[in-house]
Amino acid sequence: MGGGPAAATAARLLASWGRDVLLVARPESADEPELPESLTPSCRKFFDLMGISSAIEGAGFIPSGGHTVWWGGAQRVEPFAEGQHGWQVTTGRLSRVMLAAVEAAGGRVERASLSADDVLGWPTRVRIDATGRAGVLARPFGRRRYEPGHRTVALIGRWRRSGPWPLPDASHTLLESYADGWGWSVPVGPDTRALAVMVDPKTTQLVKGEGAKAVYLAEIAKMEHLAATFRGSDLVSGPSGWDASMYVADQMTGDGWLLAGDANAFVDPLSSAGVKKAMASGWLAAVAVNTALSDPSMAPTAYDFFAARERATYTQFLTLTRQFLLDGAPAPDHPFWADRGAPAPDDDRAAITAAWDRLRATSTLSLRAAPGLTTAMRPALTERAIVLEERLVTSLVPDGVRYVDGVDVVRLTRLAPGAADVPRLFEKYVLDSGPTDLPAFAKALATAVARGWLIAP
Ligand SMILES: Cc1cc2nc3c(=O)[nH]c(=O)nc-3n(C[C@H](O)[C@H](O)[C@H](O)COP(=O)(O)OP(=O)(O)OC[C@H]3O[C@@H](n4cnc5c(N)ncnc54)[C@H](O)[C@@H]3O)c2cc1C
Repeated sequence: MGGGPAAATAARLLASWGRDVLLVARPESADEPELPESLTPSCRKFFDLMGISSAIEGAGFIPSGGHTVWWGGAQRVEPFAEGQHGWQVTTGRLSRVMLAAVEAAGGRVERASLSADDVLGWPTRVRIDATGRAGVLARPFGRRRYEPGHRTVALIGRWRRSGPWPLPDASHTLLESYADGWGWSVPVGPDTRALAVMVDPKTTQLVKGEGAKAVYLAEIAKMEHLAATFRGSDLVSGPSGWDASMYVADQMTGDGWLLAGDANAFVDPLSSAGVKKAMASGWLAAVAVNTALSDPSMAPTAYDFFAARERATYTQFLTLTRQFLLDGAPAPDHPFWADRGAPAPDDDRAAITAAWDRLRATSTLSLRAAPGLTTAMRPALTERAIVLEERLVTSLVPDGVRYVDGVDVVRLTRLAPGAADVPRLFEKYVLDSGPTDLPAFAKALATAVARGWLIAP
């Protein structure tokens, strides 16, 4: 259900794996404004996975070269890494390309505005709700929980300018933080840009009693750089309003259904990652469904794995977004920023580096496995199925871990106790597991020591 990137990804993959797929999306309406979106180069791996990269390149989207950011007072011009580009798209145009790919893979595409009753009445084994914020099944069954202190409304208008934009690179996505919120702009045509302001309807000093246009213009005037960039250009449409508040479903799967993409969780548009997250979610939903259809006894494992991964992704985005908001706060005590920012937790990079320094300094290794270290079968993801694999399990990592930087830590922790030194352990590992990158091996070994899986005397 749905015609966005989550539904299209799930449907295209399942159809190309030989499943019988029906995708139902709401009819397009000329009156509904299309949302402009900026896609980062990392979306390419999902386009490749779906086999639609050439269709995306041929669709005429504006290639994007990076970001120009005025965040927390500092300016940064951040081009994407060498040779890479993103895409400036709109929801409708992206959806048309992706739905054509669903049909090309043998999926059926129909247009209808569905209700939960329609969907529950379908004679089908599995339903994937990917209807975004509308959440046909997500609203009645998903127990959607909004992030406290994270209510955001986006007001978006389109602006035209004769002559060049006064920018270092006009293909860039622009971001600016200001006391009452933040602004965002992407190119949508040769002489046209979308400009959005993201504000909190509860805490922002909006211009009371006036229409959306007056509120929108007043917010733009509060920004130094974006106001200067758009001076001398004309507002040609909008603004339209979009709810951009973060939420997550407490229940992501049920009897014969899964929630994918924005239907299950919405991350702040600040990340420019909503579409990528939706495609990742559509892929994971397709893998879980494919697993359950191939082997019904694996259905509970596959659905639980899907829900756990989706929840972990949301938590990661929440942490990153909070850190970014903390960095951007031009007025940290202002309610818009005070409720949103929170420091990210420390990671263990320093401990891993210290462990490697210790390992390098010792002439004899004498490593042994930690007393509580065991292995157990845990679900793991392959391209098309969720399978059970042996993993290292500790009380801190109950879901287990198998690979660190591509190095198999189950094998590594078995081989390590007999090894006299690091070079000989590396040789043993390569004999056992095949060619291995030495820096990755060193990192995996140091990680095993830093996390207490292996104990060095
Ligand atoms: C203001 C704003 C700016 C954003 N900017 C970016 C950005 O720059 N980059 C980025 O990657 N992401 C951005 N996002 C996020 C991105 O738009 C979403 O995360 C992404 O589109 C989610 O994809 P989806 O397939 O889950 O849902 P959607 O894209 O929302 O698709 C849902 C689909 O379900 C259909 N539908 C709804 N109800 C029904 C029904 N009853 N019956 C049938 N079909 C139905 C809809 O028509 C639609 O086709 C932004 C979001 C907002 C709000």
